[in-house]
Amino acid sequence: MVSPQASWSARLAARAADRHARGLWRERRCHAPGATLDFAGNDYLGLARDPRLAEAQAAGAQRYGAGAGASHLVSGHLAVHEALEARLAELVGRPRALLFSTGYMANLGTLQALCDGHTEVFQDRLNHASLLDGAALAGARSRRFHHGDRRDLERLLGRAPADALKLVVSDGVFSMDGDVADVAGLAESSARHGAWLMIDDAHGLGVLGDHGDGCVGRAQGVAAVPILVGTLGKALGTGGAFVAGSPALIEHLIQFARPYVYTTAQPPGVAAATLAALDILAAEPERRARLNAHVARFRAEAARLDLPLAPSPTPIQPLVLGDSERVMRWATRLREAGLLVGAIREPTVPRGQARLRITLSAAHSERDLERLLEALAQLQGEEPSP
Ligand SMILES: *Cc1c(COP(=O)(O)O)cnc(C)c1O
Repeated sequence: MVSPQASWSARLAARAADRHARGLWRERRCHAPGATLDFAGNDYLGLARDPRLAEAQAAGAQRYGAGAGASHLVSGHLAVHEALEARLAELVGRPRALLFSTGYMANLGTLQALCDGHTEVFQDRLNHASLLDGAALAGARSRRFHHGDRRDLERLLGRAPADALKLVVSDGVFSMDGDVADVAGLAESSARHGAWLMIDDAHGLGVLGDHGDGCVGRAQGVAAVPILVGTLGKALGTGGAFVAGSPALIEHLIQFARPYVYTTAQPPGVAAATLAALDILAAEPERRARLNAHVARFRAEAARLDLPLAPSPTPIQPLVLGDSERVMRWATRLREAGLLVGAIREPTVPRGQARLRITLSAAHSERDLERLLEALAQLQGEEPSP
């Protein structure tokens, strides 16, 4: 590390050199939709480029303006935001929902508004960065339990002071692994220790559940899961996020969540597009059916090829290759073949677990899937997995 006396330029140069030396340098690439086959994004239902959403967005902008013009508590809270909140609450079977500009901010705001230095926060080790950052913003310490391990969670819960307020926090679908949290089990453990449970269902909403209401949704009520976060930039194809729960929770967030209070309300056209996405989610269940069929086919054929696929029932299908150089090699070869997949390395995942994060979408055709499998088969032939 750089000494505190060194100049800023020396500090930046040293950190860049370190990241390069470890093979972890990240680069953005301009993505031209249509030019490559996208197996990296989170547009699970193929809604992001649905022309009906673009039309709704344009109409929303015409009616309300391109931007909201102010924060929700000043003059930026518009009828379209209000209508969207009602629809989201209805989708997940909760009394109320509160719209945030991004999922990152929903998690920051919720944890910051609820917790402080005396709150005990328990987080799954594989939780999304925004959940850890939210607890840090609140000045609360996060105790991290082994992934999906209720026994470890209960051990930590049992050690906390009896009179402390406790909050258990978990992803619904884990974003880099694709596995689904045992929400009923987490709810039981939380209840036994008098803790509240917060589930971030960013990747489950729109994909899981009988109505696309996610891994929590209507199946688990407010009593079991008092705090539910959903994001709108993934399966719903737009952007933004919401927190759903009791009226008291929502009012508390409106009062105290700084990432809610001190930011401009979401552009109204985006909210209008999300309303259109919710209409399509309800009217076209065949999108979810098609997505699930893709997942089943991909898994069956990948097993035949002996590919080291993680056990995931969701459209997130990680191919755990181990070292980051191998991951970069495979990702580059796939890109040269016109196939875009995520190359995920530390610090996003633990060292030695670098992976290709392959995501499937209802927008893919059978032929798209075949192209991906053919390319993977060729790579596996050249460089068999140990
Ligand atoms: C993507 C994601 C977020 C952040 O949502 P944005 O709307 O993209 O800011 C939060 N939590 C999880 C689990 C995510 O995967």
